[in-house]
Amino acid sequence: MKYISDELNKIRETGLYRELKVIGNAQDSHIEIEGKTFLSFCSNNYLGLANNPSVVKAVKDAVEEYGWGAGASRLVSGNMTLHETLENVISRFKGKEAALVFPTGYMANLGAISSLVSKGDLVICDKLNHASIIDGCRLSGADFRVYAHCDMEKLENILRKSSRYNRKLIVTDSVFSMDGDLAPLPDIVRIADKYKAMVMVDEAHGTGVFGRNGRGVVEHFNLNNEIDIVMGTLSKAIGSLGGYVTGDNDLINYLRNKARSFMYTTALPPAVCAASIAAINLIKRDPSIRESLWHNVRFINDNLKSLDFNVISSESPIIPILIGDAQKAVDMSKSLYERGILIPAIRPPTVPVNSSRLRMTVMSTHTKEDLEILLEVLSEVQNL
Ligand SMILES: *Cc1c(COP(=O)(O)O)cnc(C)c1O
Repeated sequence: MKYISDELNKIRETGLYRELKVIGNAQDSHIEIEGKTFLSFCSNNYLGLANNPSVVKAVKDAVEEYGWGAGASRLVSGNMTLHETLENVISRFKGKEAALVFPTGYMANLGAISSLVSKGDLVICDKLNHASIIDGCRLSGADFRVYAHCDMEKLENILRKSSRYNRKLIVTDSVFSMDGDLAPLPDIVRIADKYKAMVMVDEAHGTGVFGRNGRGVVEHFNLNNEIDIVMGTLSKAIGSLGGYVTGDNDLINYLRNKARSFMYTTALPPAVCAASIAAINLIKRDPSIRESLWHNVRFINDNLKSLDFNVISSESPIIPILIGDAQKAVDMSKSLYERGILIPAIRPPTVPVNSSRLRMTVMSTHTKEDLEILLEVLSEVQNL
Protein backbone atom coordinates (compact mmCIF):
# COMPACT_ATOMS: atom_id res chain seq x y z
CA MET A 1 0.00 0.00 0.00
CA LYS A 2 3.07 2.27 0.03
CA TYR A 3 2.27 3.49 -3.48
CA ILE A 4 -0.84 5.20 -2.09
CA SER A 5 1.06 7.42 0.35
CA ASP A 6 3.79 8.02 -2.27
CA GLU A 7 1.20 9.16 -4.78
CA LEU A 8 -0.52 11.34 -2.16
CA ASN A 9 2.79 13.02 -1.36
CA LYS A 10 3.36 13.67 -5.04
CA ILE A 11 -0.08 15.27 -5.38
CA ARG A 12 0.62 17.45 -2.30
CA GLU A 13 4.06 18.52 -3.55
CA THR A 14 2.69 19.74 -6.88
CA GLY A 15 0.07 21.87 -5.11
CA LEU A 16 -2.79 19.88 -6.60
CA TYR A 17 -4.11 18.16 -3.47
CA ARG A 18 -7.88 18.50 -3.15
CA GLU A 19 -9.85 18.73 0.07
CA LEU A 20 -13.54 18.89 0.87
CA LYS A 21 -15.31 21.80 2.50
CA VAL A 22 -18.36 20.94 4.63
CA ILE A 23 -21.49 23.01 4.06
CA GLY A 24 -23.65 23.18 7.20
CA ASN A 25 -26.92 24.57 5.86
CA ALA A 26 -29.19 24.27 2.82
CA GLN A 27 -27.75 25.14 -0.60
CA ASP A 28 -28.30 28.77 -1.46
CA SER A 29 -26.38 31.94 -2.19
CA HIS A 30 -25.34 32.15 1.48
CA ILE A 31 -23.74 29.01 2.89
CA GLU A 32 -22.18 28.06 6.21
CA ILE A 33 -18.73 26.54 6.60
CA GLU A 34 -17.42 25.81 10.09
CA GLY A 35 -20.02 28.11 11.59
CA LYS A 36 -19.12 31.05 9.36
CA THR A 37 -21.36 32.44 6.62
CA PHE A 38 -20.02 32.76 3.08
CA LEU A 39 -21.41 34.25 -0.08
CA SER A 40 -21.23 31.43 -2.60
CA PHE A 41 -20.32 32.15 -6.21
CA CYS A 42 -19.61 28.59 -7.24
CA SER A 43 -22.86 26.64 -7.23
CA ASN A 44 -24.50 25.14 -10.31
CA ASN A 45 -27.83 25.69 -8.56
CA TYR A 46 -28.33 28.68 -10.89
CA LEU A 47 -32.01 29.20 -10.16
CA GLY A 48 -31.94 28.49 -6.42
CA LEU A 49 -34.27 25.53 -6.94
CA ALA A 50 -32.23 23.14 -4.74
CA ASN A 51 -33.94 24.71 -1.73
CA ASN A 52 -37.07 26.22 -3.27
CA PRO A 53 -40.10 25.83 -0.92
CA SER A 54 -42.39 24.33 -3.56
CA VAL A 55 -39.69 21.81 -4.56
CA VAL A 56 -39.16 20.86 -0.91
CA LYS A 57 -42.92 20.44 -0.47
CA ALA A 58 -43.15 18.20 -3.54
CA VAL A 59 -40.41 15.99 -2.05
CA LYS A 60 -42.18 15.75 1.33
CA ASP A 61 -45.46 14.81 -0.35
CA ALA A 62 -43.72 12.19 -2.50
CA VAL A 63 -41.99 10.62 0.51
CA GLU A 64 -45.38 10.42 2.28
CA GLU A 65 -46.88 8.62 -0.69
CA TYR A 66 -44.03 6.50 -2.05
CA GLY A 67 -41.54 6.20 0.83
CA TRP A 68 -37.87 6.66 0.05
CA GLY A 69 -35.93 3.99 -1.86
CA ALA A 70 -36.76 2.48 -5.25
CA GLY A 71 -35.48 -0.96 -4.27
CA ALA A 72 -34.31 -2.22 -7.67
CA SER A 73 -33.20 -1.33 -11.17
CA ARG A 74 -35.78 0.37 -13.37
CA LEU A 75 -35.93 -2.82 -15.46
CA VAL A 76 -36.71 -5.07 -12.49
CA SER A 77 -39.19 -3.48 -10.09
CA GLY A 78 -37.76 -0.02 -9.44
CA ASN A 79 -39.70 1.77 -12.18
CA MET A 80 -42.31 3.81 -10.32
CA THR A 81 -45.00 6.28 -11.38
CA LEU A 82 -42.77 9.28 -10.71
CA HIS A 83 -39.96 8.00 -12.97
CA GLU A 84 -42.44 7.79 -15.83
CA THR A 85 -43.96 11.18 -15.01
CA LEU A 86 -40.51 12.77 -14.92
CA GLU A 87 -39.60 11.33 -18.32
CA ASN A 88 -42.84 12.72 -19.77
CA VAL A 89 -42.19 16.12 -18.19
CA ILE A 90 -38.64 16.20 -19.61
CA SER A 91 -39.61 15.15 -23.15
CA ARG A 92 -42.46 17.69 -23.26
CA PHE A 93 -40.23 20.45 -21.84
CA LYS A 94 -37.53 19.64 -24.42
CA GLY A 95 -39.97 19.18 -27.31
CA LYS A 96 -38.86 15.60 -27.99
CA GLU A 97 -40.80 12.32 -28.31
CA ALA A 98 -39.30 10.55 -25.31
CA ALA A 99 -36.71 10.71 -22.54
CA LEU A 100 -34.74 8.29 -20.39
CA VAL A 101 -33.63 9.19 -16.86
CA PHE A 102 -30.36 7.86 -15.39
CA PRO A 103 -29.18 8.21 -11.76
CA THR A 104 -26.70 10.99 -12.73
CA GLY A 105 -25.63 13.00 -15.75
CA TYR A 106 -22.28 11.25 -15.60
CA MET A 107 -24.03 7.91 -16.03
CA ALA A 108 -26.24 9.27 -18.82
CA ASN A 109 -23.15 10.22 -20.85
CA LEU A 110 -21.40 6.96 -20.09
CA GLY A 111 -24.42 4.87 -21.02
CA ALA A 112 -25.53 6.83 -24.08
CA ILE A 113 -22.17 7.27 -25.81
CA SER A 114 -21.04 3.69 -25.18
CA SER A 115 -24.34 2.44 -26.63
CA LEU A 116 -24.36 4.70 -29.69
CA VAL A 117 -20.86 3.87 -30.97
CA SER A 118 -18.48 0.94 -30.65
CA LYS A 119 -15.49 -0.66 -32.38
CA GLY A 120 -15.37 0.35 -36.05
CA ASP A 121 -17.11 3.68 -35.34
CA LEU A 122 -15.73 7.17 -34.80
CA VAL A 123 -16.57 9.51 -31.94
CA ILE A 124 -15.42 13.16 -32.09
CA CYS A 125 -15.18 15.60 -29.16
CA ASP A 126 -14.40 19.23 -28.48
CA LYS A 127 -11.16 19.51 -26.49
CA LEU A 128 -13.02 21.04 -23.54
CA ASN A 129 -15.84 18.51 -23.28
CA HIS A 130 -16.81 17.36 -19.78
CA ALA A 131 -14.97 14.41 -18.23
CA SER A 132 -18.09 12.23 -18.33
CA ILE A 133 -18.24 12.60 -22.13
CA ILE A 134 -14.56 11.70 -22.44
CA ASP A 135 -15.06 8.65 -20.21
CA GLY A 136 -18.09 7.58 -22.29
CA CYS A 137 -16.00 7.84 -25.47
CA ARG A 138 -13.18 5.77 -23.98
CA LEU A 139 -15.60 3.13 -22.74
CA SER A 140 -17.29 2.84 -26.14
CA GLY A 141 -14.29 1.24 -27.88
CA ALA A 142 -14.85 3.51 -30.90
CA ASP A 143 -11.92 5.47 -32.39
CA PHE A 144 -11.80 8.72 -30.47
CA ARG A 145 -10.69 12.05 -31.97
CA VAL A 146 -10.57 15.50 -30.40
CA TYR A 147 -10.68 18.93 -32.10
CA ALA A 148 -9.30 22.17 -30.64
CA HIS A 149 -11.92 24.09 -28.68
CA CYS A 150 -14.75 25.21 -31.02
CA ASP A 151 -12.42 24.83 -34.03
CA MET A 152 -14.79 23.94 -36.87
CA GLU A 153 -12.01 23.63 -39.42
CA LYS A 154 -10.38 20.92 -37.31
CA LEU A 155 -13.73 19.17 -36.90
CA GLU A 156 -14.24 19.16 -40.65
CA ASN A 157 -10.68 17.90 -41.24
CA ILE A 158 -11.36 14.92 -39.02
CA LEU A 159 -14.64 14.15 -40.78
CA ARG A 160 -13.13 14.53 -44.24
CA LYS A 161 -10.93 11.52 -43.50
CA SER A 162 -13.65 9.45 -41.85
CA SER A 163 -15.21 7.52 -44.75
CA ARG A 164 -13.90 4.16 -43.49
CA TYR A 165 -16.01 4.32 -40.35
CA ASN A 166 -19.49 2.83 -40.00
CA ARG A 167 -21.06 5.36 -37.67
CA LYS A 168 -19.79 8.80 -36.75
CA LEU A 169 -20.85 10.70 -33.64
CA ILE A 170 -19.98 14.28 -32.67
CA VAL A 171 -20.46 15.04 -28.97
CA THR A 172 -20.23 18.52 -27.47
CA ASP A 173 -21.08 20.44 -24.32
CA SER A 174 -23.57 23.19 -25.16
CA VAL A 175 -22.14 25.52 -22.49
CA PHE A 176 -18.52 24.72 -21.66
CA SER A 177 -18.28 24.27 -17.93
CA MET A 178 -14.85 25.85 -17.33
CA ASP A 179 -14.94 28.66 -19.94
CA GLY A 180 -18.65 29.48 -19.91
CA ASP A 181 -18.81 29.92 -23.68
CA LEU A 182 -21.23 28.29 -26.11
CA ALA A 183 -20.58 25.59 -28.70
CA PRO A 184 -21.15 26.80 -32.28
CA LEU A 185 -24.09 24.41 -32.68
CA PRO A 186 -25.35 25.77 -36.04
CA ASP A 187 -21.91 25.10 -37.60
CA ILE A 188 -21.64 21.68 -35.98
CA VAL A 189 -25.06 20.71 -37.36
CA ARG A 190 -24.13 21.92 -40.85
CA ILE A 191 -20.84 20.00 -40.89
CA ALA A 192 -22.44 16.87 -39.38
CA ASP A 193 -25.06 16.94 -42.13
CA LYS A 194 -22.42 17.13 -44.83
CA TYR A 195 -20.56 14.05 -43.51
CA LYS A 196 -23.60 12.11 -42.27
CA ALA A 197 -22.53 12.20 -38.63
CA MET A 198 -24.84 12.07 -35.60
CA VAL A 199 -24.77 14.97 -33.13
CA MET A 200 -25.19 14.63 -29.37
CA VAL A 201 -25.38 17.79 -27.25
CA ASP A 202 -24.80 17.88 -23.49
CA GLU A 203 -27.07 20.57 -22.03
CA ALA A 204 -25.86 20.20 -18.42
CA HIS A 205 -25.29 23.96 -18.02
CA GLY A 206 -27.83 24.99 -20.68
CA THR A 207 -31.06 23.49 -19.36
CA GLY A 208 -33.18 25.94 -17.37
CA VAL A 209 -30.85 28.79 -18.29
CA PHE A 210 -30.84 29.37 -22.07
CA GLY A 211 -33.59 29.65 -24.67
CA ARG A 212 -36.90 31.50 -24.67
CA ASN A 213 -38.53 28.75 -22.60
CA GLY A 214 -35.43 27.71 -20.66
CA ARG A 215 -35.03 24.51 -22.70
CA GLY A 216 -31.35 25.14 -23.31
CA VAL A 217 -28.83 26.24 -25.90
CA VAL A 218 -30.44 24.00 -28.55
CA GLU A 219 -33.54 26.18 -28.18
CA HIS A 220 -31.41 29.35 -28.10
CA PHE A 221 -30.12 28.43 -31.59
CA ASN A 222 -33.53 27.13 -32.69
CA LEU A 223 -32.09 23.71 -33.58
CA ASN A 224 -34.48 21.36 -31.80
CA ASN A 225 -35.42 19.52 -34.99
CA GLU A 226 -31.82 19.30 -36.22
CA ILE A 227 -30.23 17.73 -33.15
CA ASP A 228 -31.28 14.13 -32.55
CA ILE A 229 -29.64 13.37 -29.22
CA VAL A 230 -29.91 15.85 -26.36
CA MET A 231 -28.52 14.93 -22.97
CA GLY A 232 -28.63 16.87 -19.73
CA THR A 233 -28.56 16.73 -15.97
CA LEU A 234 -31.18 17.39 -13.31
CA SER A 235 -28.47 18.36 -10.82
CA LYS A 236 -27.62 21.89 -12.00
CA ALA A 237 -30.31 24.51 -12.72
CA ILE A 238 -32.98 21.89 -11.91
CA GLY A 239 -31.45 21.66 -8.42
CA SER A 240 -32.04 17.92 -7.94
CA LEU A 241 -30.24 14.77 -9.05
CA GLY A 242 -30.28 12.61 -12.17
CA GLY A 243 -29.28 12.67 -15.82
CA TYR A 244 -31.36 12.21 -18.94
CA VAL A 245 -31.21 11.63 -22.65
CA THR A 246 -34.07 12.87 -24.81
CA GLY A 247 -34.83 12.21 -28.47
CA ASP A 248 -37.17 10.08 -30.59
CA ASN A 249 -38.91 6.90 -29.42
CA ASP A 250 -36.47 4.59 -31.19
CA LEU A 251 -33.45 6.23 -29.59
CA ILE A 252 -34.95 5.98 -26.11
CA ASN A 253 -36.11 2.36 -26.56
CA TYR A 254 -32.64 1.52 -27.85
CA LEU A 255 -30.90 3.09 -24.83
CA ARG A 256 -33.31 1.40 -22.43
CA ASN A 257 -32.13 -1.90 -23.89
CA LYS A 258 -28.45 -1.09 -24.33
CA ALA A 259 -27.16 1.45 -21.81
CA ARG A 260 -25.46 -0.48 -19.03
CA SER A 261 -25.41 2.50 -16.65
CA PHE A 262 -29.21 2.47 -16.92
CA MET A 263 -29.73 -1.29 -16.73
CA TYR A 264 -27.36 -2.29 -13.96
CA THR A 265 -28.03 0.30 -11.31
CA THR A 266 -30.82 1.06 -8.88
CA ALA A 267 -33.50 3.56 -9.89
CA LEU A 268 -33.46 7.02 -8.30
CA PRO A 269 -35.62 7.36 -5.18
CA PRO A 270 -39.04 8.50 -6.46
CA ALA A 271 -39.00 11.66 -4.29
CA VAL A 272 -35.85 12.78 -6.14
CA CYS A 273 -37.92 12.61 -9.34
CA ALA A 274 -40.67 14.62 -7.61
CA ALA A 275 -38.14 17.40 -6.97
CA SER A 276 -37.13 17.50 -10.65
CA ILE A 277 -40.76 17.50 -11.79
CA ALA A 278 -41.61 20.40 -9.46
CA ALA A 279 -38.50 22.32 -10.55
CA ILE A 280 -39.15 21.92 -14.29
CA ASN A 281 -42.77 22.97 -13.78
CA LEU A 282 -41.56 26.08 -11.94
CA ILE A 283 -39.17 26.93 -14.78
CA LYS A 284 -42.03 26.60 -17.26
CA ARG A 285 -44.50 28.57 -15.16
CA ASP A 286 -42.31 31.38 -13.90
CA PRO A 287 -39.87 32.92 -16.41
CA SER A 288 -39.03 35.62 -13.86
CA ILE A 289 -36.67 33.21 -12.05
CA ARG A 290 -34.55 32.92 -15.20
CA GLU A 291 -34.85 36.66 -15.83
CA SER A 292 -33.34 37.47 -12.41
CA LEU A 293 -30.44 35.15 -13.19
CA TRP A 294 -29.68 36.97 -16.44
CA HIS A 295 -30.17 40.33 -14.77
CA ASN A 296 -27.48 39.33 -12.25
CA VAL A 297 -25.16 38.01 -14.98
CA ARG A 298 -25.42 41.32 -16.86
CA PHE A 299 -24.82 43.34 -13.70
CA ILE A 300 -21.63 41.40 -12.90
CA ASN A 301 -20.34 41.55 -16.47
CA ASP A 302 -20.99 45.29 -16.80
CA ASN A 303 -19.26 46.05 -13.52
CA LEU A 304 -16.33 43.69 -14.01
CA LYS A 305 -15.36 45.79 -17.01
CA SER A 306 -14.39 48.70 -14.76
CA LEU A 307 -12.09 46.40 -12.77
CA ASP A 308 -9.01 45.33 -14.63
CA PHE A 309 -9.76 41.60 -14.85
CA ASN A 310 -9.27 39.26 -17.77
CA VAL A 311 -12.74 37.73 -18.11
CA ILE A 312 -12.60 34.70 -20.40
CA SER A 313 -16.17 34.91 -21.65
CA SER A 314 -19.44 36.47 -20.64
CA GLU A 315 -21.98 34.40 -22.53
CA SER A 316 -23.39 32.49 -19.57
CA PRO A 317 -23.76 32.51 -15.77
CA ILE A 318 -20.30 30.89 -15.68
CA ILE A 319 -17.86 33.81 -15.49
CA PRO A 320 -14.20 32.76 -15.37
CA ILE A 321 -11.51 35.30 -14.48
CA LEU A 322 -8.20 34.28 -16.03
CA ILE A 323 -5.28 34.46 -13.59
CA GLY A 324 -2.72 32.23 -15.35
CA ASP A 325 -0.38 30.99 -12.63
CA ALA A 326 -1.86 28.20 -10.49
CA GLN A 327 -0.39 29.41 -7.19
CA LYS A 328 -1.59 32.97 -7.80
CA ALA A 329 -5.11 31.72 -8.51
CA VAL A 330 -5.05 29.66 -5.31
CA ASP A 331 -3.82 32.67 -3.32
CA MET A 332 -6.55 34.89 -4.70
CA SER A 333 -9.21 32.29 -3.98
CA LYS A 334 -7.85 32.12 -0.42
CA SER A 335 -7.96 35.92 -0.02
CA LEU A 336 -11.57 35.91 -1.22
CA TYR A 337 -12.36 33.12 1.25
CA GLU A 338 -10.86 35.10 4.12
CA ARG A 339 -13.23 37.92 3.14
CA GLY A 340 -16.29 35.65 3.15
CA ILE A 341 -16.54 34.88 -0.56
CA LEU A 342 -16.40 31.40 -2.02
CA ILE A 343 -14.93 31.21 -5.53
CA PRO A 344 -12.69 28.25 -6.34
CA ALA A 345 -9.38 28.38 -8.18
CA ILE A 346 -9.50 26.01 -11.14
CA ARG A 347 -6.06 24.58 -11.92
CA PRO A 348 -4.50 21.97 -14.19
CA PRO A 349 -5.33 19.26 -15.08
CA THR A 350 -8.91 20.58 -15.14
CA VAL A 351 -7.72 23.50 -17.35
CA PRO A 352 -4.56 23.88 -19.49
CA VAL A 353 -1.25 24.93 -17.87
CA ASN A 354 -1.02 28.72 -17.37
CA SER A 355 -4.76 29.19 -17.66
CA SER A 356 -5.62 28.80 -13.99
CA ARG A 357 -8.64 30.85 -13.15
CA LEU A 358 -11.22 31.93 -10.63
CA ARG A 359 -14.44 30.35 -11.81
CA MET A 360 -17.48 32.32 -10.69
CA THR A 361 -21.06 31.27 -11.14
CA VAL A 362 -24.00 33.58 -10.61
CA MET A 363 -27.41 32.60 -9.19
CA SER A 364 -30.87 34.12 -9.57
CA THR A 365 -31.10 34.33 -5.76
CA HIS A 366 -28.08 36.63 -5.37
CA THR A 367 -29.33 40.04 -4.24
CA LYS A 368 -27.99 43.33 -5.58
CA GLU A 369 -26.22 43.74 -2.24
CA ASP A 370 -24.54 40.30 -2.62
CA LEU A 371 -23.24 41.33 -6.04
CA GLU A 372 -22.00 44.68 -4.77
CA ILE A 373 -20.09 42.97 -1.96
CA LEU A 374 -18.56 40.59 -4.50
CA LEU A 375 -17.35 43.44 -6.71
CA GLU A 376 -15.95 45.35 -3.75
CA VAL A 377 -14.02 42.32 -2.47
CA LEU A 378 -12.77 41.47 -5.97
CA SER A 379 -11.33 44.94 -6.40
CA GLU A 380 -9.72 44.63 -2.95
CA VAL A 381 -7.95 41.31 -3.63
CA GLN A 382 -6.91 42.45 -7.10
CA ASN A 383 -4.56 44.96 -5.53
CA LEU A 384 -3.01 42.67 -2.92
C1 LIG B 1 -22.03 18.33 -14.42
C2 LIG B 1 -21.93 17.83 -15.79
C3 LIG B 1 -22.24 16.50 -16.10
C4 LIG B 1 -22.54 15.47 -15.04
O1 LIG B 1 -23.80 15.64 -14.47
P1 LIG B 1 -24.10 15.04 -13.02
O2 LIG B 1 -25.58 14.93 -13.00
O3 LIG B 1 -23.57 16.00 -12.03
O4 LIG B 1 -23.43 13.70 -12.96
C5 LIG B 1 -22.19 16.12 -17.43
N1 LIG B 1 -21.84 16.99 -18.39
C6 LIG B 1 -21.51 18.28 -18.13
C7 LIG B 1 -21.15 19.20 -19.24
C8 LIG B 1 -21.54 18.74 -16.82
O5 LIG B 1 -21.21 20.00 -16.55
